[in-house]
Amino acid sequence: MMSSQSVPSASPHEFDRLLESIHSAHRDNRAGALADYIPELAKASPDDFGLAIATVGGRLHIAGDAEVPFTIQSISKAFTFCLALELTGRDTVLTRVGVEPSGDAFNAIIFDAVGKKPFNPMVNAGAITIAGLLCETLGASAFDFVLDRFSQAAGRPLTLDETVYRSEAETGHRNRAIAHLLLANDVLKVSPDEALDLYFRQCSIRVTASDLARMGATLANMGENPVTGRAAFELRAVRNTLAVMFTCGMYDYAGNWAYDIGVPAKSGVGGGILGVVNRQLGIATYSPRLDARGNSVRGIASFEMLGEELGLHAFDCTNMGSSFVSTLIR
Ligand code: GLU
Repeated sequence: MMSSQSVPSASPHEFDRLLESIHSAHRDNRAGALADYIPELAKASPDDFGLAIATVGGRLHIAGDAEVPFTIQSISKAFTFCLALELTGRDTVLTRVGVEPSGDAFNAIIFDAVGKKPFNPMVNAGAITIAGLLCETLGASAFDFVLDRFSQAAGRPLTLDETVYRSEAETGHRNRAIAHLLLANDVLKVSPDEALDLYFRQCSIRVTASDLARMGATLANMGENPVTGRAAFELRAVRNTLAVMFTCGMYDYAGNWAYDIGVPAKSGVGGGILGVVNRQLGIATYSPRLDARGNSVRGIASFEMLGEELGLHAFDCTNMGSSFVSTLIR
């Protein structure tokens, strides 16, 4: 359950009011543009704007278009990384992909100079490597496994957006180039086509802001869905995932995000942003107009306002840390 100490002045009723006020503050912001390098993404309704907070106590608070479906895109990378850690272990994962922020765009064609590995699992090169590792481990059932765990985390059966999947698969030439380089660098051990097929599919899973917030609350709740009580992710893998989201989750804005907003987060070009307040909340925004780095403009503005109002930054003086530690230091 949330403690009133670590979320100062917030009752559930105040979450609803806060989400409404953030929604009306940013509703008229039309800055940014839809992603169009995947043709299907350019068909999103640009004005859609949804906000959702899910608590580890199982409550959901929403405002605006929180039930409008969109594709999860890069937000999937955080969850597939978590699954790869669980299935193959931290050491194996680290032989294939690093945990350093790259400071470069999500689709950059760059690798660590020493190990030839992708910098981290939140950029395309790293996520395609992780997809390859899942295929290596799970074979033909890899996508069903991923979809099942994502669904467990959301607390309802999620589905694939076939049209977006086809659009990505038909046009993903840059990702294809990356996958072939990963093969040459010996970090991809299955065929590029196999890894890419899982990658394009995982990116094309349909979610709503409410789903994403619930998936975030599952991470915040040590991997167990707070509503169903079922484990979707392994506890140790959750810790590693949140750490990489904190340092690498927001494209080449990750440093600014950690500085200003200070919660682990992951962004996707479909217009979603997921933030996690460990042991407390999953927070999601959906608005498909993106800035030059690929982050949702209204999403960032909403997180700024929410973080400020609730004192969510990991190093905020109002953030009292875990109740376990506080019993030890008093
Ligand atoms: N499927 C997208 C791609 O690889 C994901 C990009 C993103 O959301 O950052 O281009």
